[in-house]
Amino acid sequence: MPKLSQNAAQSSDDQIGSSASANTLPPVQSGRHSVLTTQSTPLHAFLVPDRSSLSNLSNPAVDLQPATHILPDRFRNVWPVKSRNADVVKWLINRQKAPWPLWEHNVPADSLPESRPNAPLDDWKVWFVGHATVLVQIGPWNFLTDPVWAMRASPLAFAGPRRVRAPGIALKDLPRIDAVLLSHNHYDHMDMASLRWLHQRDQMPIYTGLLNREYLPAEMNIIELDWWQEIPFHADPTLKIVFTPAQHFSGRGLRDRNHALWGGLSVLSPHGHLFFAGDTGYAPHFRAIRNKLGKPRLALLPIGAYEPRAVMQTMHMNPAEAVRAHVDLGAHQSLAIHFRTFQLTDESMNQPLLELAQALAAHTLSEADFFSLQEGHAAEVTAQPSFLLSE
Ligand code: ZN
Ligand code: ZN
Repeated sequence: MPKLSQNAAQSSDDQIGSSASANTLPPVQSGRHSVLTTQSTPLHAFLVPDRSSLSNLSNPAVDLQPATHILPDRFRNVWPVKSRNADVVKWLINRQKAPWPLWEHNVPADSLPESRPNAPLDDWKVWFVGHATVLVQIGPWNFLTDPVWAMRASPLAFAGPRRVRAPGIALKDLPRIDAVLLSHNHYDHMDMASLRWLHQRDQMPIYTGLLNREYLPAEMNIIELDWWQEIPFHADPTLKIVFTPAQHFSGRGLRDRNHALWGGLSVLSPHGHLFFAGDTGYAPHFRAIRNKLGKPRLALLPIGAYEPRAVMQTMHMNPAEAVRAHVDLGAHQSLAIHFRTFQLTDESMNQPLLELAQALAAHTLSEADFFSLQEGHAAEVTAQPSFLLSE
């Protein structure tokens, strides 16, 4: 395996009209200080409309004002997010959780994923392991999102959200993993034991957001990326990995809120765009991702952990918003993720899929457009009829 280094990371600033050139940017540094003080640090990251110009939306030359997601001591969202602190306190005092079962059996799958060394690059297959853990096979390459096999999404072994169903595929039954796409450091996404197991077996690179290296063992092959930053996939440079914005937050303890960057990840290939949204509220970034990176052939979109809305809306989409995200992205197909495994919020276990069906009907979309899979089951991902990377 070639030596993996985040020094190889190339900025995609040039793609989004920033004055900074990819060639002049320094390597991304893992230390916060160096990230924040270097002159060439991209401060653009995302462009939001100048509020003063919103009254004249008919003017095609709407001024754009750069907003940064990097503050001196933490990261932040770039879209206006109302403080929910009072709502959070009320919620914690009066919490009314829908009952969830203690344990659910998965519907048995009749096959396991296999290595596909000779598969052509346009042959895509997706396997739903559970929650945000998905195996996407793009030709011969195996991408695994947010691998979590832990029994609890919690820093504690005896408390915190406990899984109510097994992962649909055992770790040992995974084919060789060529890359992990790691969206952020919350416990239901970054599971140290699973990452250690995978690293020991496959030594694969872990593509993630800035400063997540600080949470991971030094021996792991970690490639940290800023929002919109891209890097060629080490095993096949015809593929590119891009870290994309999301409206969420990060933290694993009491004192590290927003210390490391959260986001989604895209894999761009000559045969389509795989988009993994990570955890996110509904925000304008889906349209930006479509505009900059093209319509996804497959989008992995979270549909769970959304009640009560007063508290969760800024950080998690409900199914209706996930369908809007699917439409904003122009996704050829979307797979529902982030539901039915850990009770993180107040909705019932089955509510996300019921509401997804209603939202699809309201948009005259079908379950083929935005589908779900049983844990451990797979689907072929059909090619877009006319795929243009920059469409
Ligand atoms: Zn999260
Ligand atoms: Zn989550």
